[in-house]
Amino acid sequence: MLSTHDLSSGYGRIVVLRGISLAVGQPEIVAVLGRNGAGKTTLMKTLAGIVPAQSGTIDFFGTEIAKLSSDKRARLGIGYVPQGRGIFPKLSVRENLLVGLYASSGAPQIIDELLEEFPALKPKLNDRGSQLSGGQQQILALARALATNPKLLLLDEPSEGIQPSILEEIADILNRLKATRGLSTLIVEQNIDFIRSMADRAYLMDIGNITRQLSREELAVDGDWLESFVSGTEFSQSVA
Ligand code: ATP
Repeated sequence: MLSTHDLSSGYGRIVVLRGISLAVGQPEIVAVLGRNGAGKTTLMKTLAGIVPAQSGTIDFFGTEIAKLSSDKRARLGIGYVPQGRGIFPKLSVRENLLVGLYASSGAPQIIDELLEEFPALKPKLNDRGSQLSGGQQQILALARALATNPKLLLLDEPSEGIQPSILEEIADILNRLKATRGLSTLIVEQNIDFIRSMADRAYLMDIGNITRQLSREELAVDGDWLESFVSGTEFSQSVA
């Protein structure tokens, strides 16, 4: 579905991604794990078309998209939930969902379908975005991204500031959408338990590079080492 080859990007003259090659199949949930500053958000923004690629390719269902606008990528089927969720605080839950719908020129009944998928949002439809808890905002951001009926969802650190019960709910939703809609997800994270509960595979990212790939089985066994990898303490531990 998605593959990048030797993808580099950054900000002006600053190079952050240094030749990333990765792939996501359909349907698959793939994680990118890395410590703060490794370049995970830059990777998501580059795939979503918000940060321009400096070199390399991004193939999405056989189309080269590295030079396409974020808008065109969304229409091709890439949904993006940014870090911090990007909820409009003054708009109601319904209006936030409608924003997602307008972005895709989708049919209004998609909102009803989304509410069946996310029943917890039903009683909150008229609440403002700012009145929701962090977990509810994350669910809303997920629902809004799905209003565009994406084939691939890019999720940037959804676990940030969210309680475990909501994380379980998010993992259930992503697994269900993978099974029912064939939706694939590329998710960047630092929460290892959350990733282990749903990822088919993971890439480890360090200073703008992919350094290792882990299967679901490898993810299941290497917990302590992974925790230290994402917190940036694995070197000192291995020396000690
Ligand atoms: P975190 O987990 O803290 O969000 P991250 O892995 O997502 O970290 P990025 O946010 O992609 O990492 O940042 C990677 C590098 O790019 C960092 O050194 C950061 O300082 C730098 N960077 C991020 N945004 C910009 C920007 N707008 N301009 C210049 N440098 C930036």
